[in-house]
This record gives sequence, structure tokens and C-alpha cells, in this order.
Amino acid sequence: MEGRHSGITNSIVASYLETLHGKRSEGLEELRKYAESMHVPVILKETENFLMMIMAIKKPKRILEIGTAIGYSASCFADAFDCNVVTIESNPEMYDAAIVNIKNLGFSDRISVVFGDAAEKLSELDGSEPFDMVFIDASKSHYKEFWDRIVPLTRPGTMIVCDNVLMKGMTASDEFDTRRRYKTSIRKMREFLDYINNLDYAETTVLPVGDGVSVSIINEHEET
Ligand code: SAM
Repeated sequence: MEGRHSGITNSIVASYLETLHGKRSEGLEELRKYAESMHVPVILKETENFLMMIMAIKKPKRILEIGTAIGYSASCFADAFDCNVVTIESNPEMYDAAIVNIKNLGFSDRISVVFGDAAEKLSELDGSEPFDMVFIDASKSHYKEFWDRIVPLTRPGTMIVCDNVLMKGMTASDEFDTRRRYKTSIRKMREFLDYINNLDYAETTVLPVGDGVSVSIINEHEET
């Protein structure tokens, strides 16, 4: 269990925390096990538990997710809450797997999986009913682009959660990028966090949960 955890918190503490939380349905537990065995990057358990708690407070009815993978997090949302989810995935194999998994879990009527690049598909959603919650969990170097396209799809009170914003600590310090391989994505993530933390129309906090999670609430924004 310790080896599986890839967040920024102490793995022993993270493993202990996992033992405290209730389990998901059998189908979801199996899907997580499958994802971990196949190295499909689904949300860390610690992040999942945090999301479930803030969603229990927020009670979102309409959720947008960027980055479906095989449909695990979207299915967690649908399983725990009375909500509808629109989730976007650009990888055809992941998309196909998500469709099958979501159908097998019985959520096809409440989860709509959109195939394509989120940057492109988000503009097609403009004009639809605003989302109550958005979960951004895709290509990290595109977070700012996703954010700017998501804002017109929100309303005052919408919660936007971004995963992996601390990038295994690299966002905080270059010393974690030992081989200097992620210079550009680190710079982009720092710029993104700086951007969302200095907006007039949103309140943001960045938390050391899992691999780092930002939580923003939209106050007001200009209609576009
Ligand atoms: N949210 C999923 C979960 O926890 O079950 C995990 C998502 S995984 C971390 C990120 C996914 O985003 C990958 O499947 C990847 O193919 C997809 N992705 C990356 N860039 C994307 C883009 N520009 N548009 C849509 N999907 C994208």
C-alpha cells in the first residue's frame, strides 16, 4: 500500500488514513484495484476521500470533469451523490474503457462521457446550464487553458477543484525535479497557481492533500 501512494504527504501517514475511511461499493473497489494493477492514473485514495467530504458539503447536482481515464472518479461521484456528470477524455482507449465501466456500474444514465480534447470540447458546452462543480484532472500543462474555458460554464458558487497541482512537490521547489525533466510543466503550474490565487472573481486555497489539490469558489465573473 505504501508503494502505491504517489502523493506528497508521508506515505505511512497516508496509508494509515486510508484505513480510517469507509469503503466504496464492491464495483468501485474492484475498478480501483484494476486501475492500480494496470497503472491507470486514477485519483489517490486520500484525494478521493477529501473530494467526497467537500462534495457532501457542496451537494453538486451538475458536475464537469476534465480527464475521465477509465471512469473511476466520475463513477465515485455518481455513486455517492444524486448528480449528473459530464466527463471529457481524449485518449480513445481510456474513453472506450470508461464507457464499458460506467455501463457495468449502472451509471450510463447519469454520466455522459465526451470523447475529444477538453480545450475543444469545452467551447462546445458553452451555453449549457452552468456546472456546480468542476474537477480538473488532465494534462497539467493545460490547466490555465482549461480554467479559462471553464469559467463561462460556471455560476457564482461553482467549486473548481484541480488535482496534482503540487506535482510531487516540484511546484514548491526545483529540488524535487532531480533530473530537471519537468522544467516547463513546473513553470506552467506555478503560473497557473499564481493566476488562480490572484483572481478578483474567485477564492482559492491550495492544500497538501494527495498530490496537491486546489479548491476555488467562483464569486462573480463577467458574462462572456
Ligand atoms: N479522473 C480520473 C480518475 O481519477 O479516475 C483520472 C484521470 S487521469 C489522471 C488523466 C486523464 O486525462 C487521462 O486519461 C488522459 O488521457 C486525459 N487527458 C489528458 N489531457 C486531456 C485533454 N486535453 N482533454 C481530455 N482528456 C485529457
